[in-house]
Amino acid sequence: IVKEKTTVRLVFLGAAGVGKTALIQRFLQDRFEHKYKRTVEELHGIEYDVDGGKIRIEIMDTSGSYSFPAMRKLCIRNGDAFALVYSVDDRESFNEVQRLRDEILELKDEKHIPLTVVGNKVDLENQRLVRTEDIMPIVEFDWNASFVEASAKTSENVLGVFKEILRQVNLPSRIS
Ligand code: GDP
Repeated sequence: IVKEKTTVRLVFLGAAGVGKTALIQRFLQDRFEHKYKRTVEELHGIEYDVDGGKIRIEIMDTSGSYSFPAMRKLCIRNGDAFALVYSVDDRESFNEVQRLRDEILELKDEKHIPLTVVGNKVDLENQRLVRTEDIMPIVEFDWNASFVEASAKTSENVLGVFKEILRQVNLPSRIS
């Protein structure tokens, strides 16, 4: 991808409230907000130095709302790599990840689509309803995708999330 493209689009998808915005904000600004703000669609651009040139990474933060299916479809069509986010305290949010994956496979022709499934809010361990050992085999073996857990609140493994997404598109994980 580095050789063919100068812009790489990372698309964050998942139910409303799972922490997509929080993960992106933690990664880009090392901040966390407790207040919930609704995201419709927001695009963040980062310039990235690689051997012999610059790459632009665009991180697309999407709304989990079904009121914007056309926007979501457009994001999927234009996306190069996808983070499918759920929250470990919310089983339905993992079902949404499964639906989103189906939609991506339907809309993209590529044989291998870079997908990283992110279980967020691991700080809520005592409210956990989605177990790592149930999800990991589905994602890694059945889907041939990457699986990570993280907490945007405590920062735990947020870098790991982005490392994994970038590794999937063959980019080094250091962003300045
Ligand atoms: P989005 O709709 O997926 O973008 O979700 P947001 O990033 O707006 O987060 C929704 C709510 O969950 C907000 O109140 C956040 O403060 C909270 N939140 C996000 N990430 C975490 C996390 O890792 N742990 C906990 N406990 N709360 C989180």
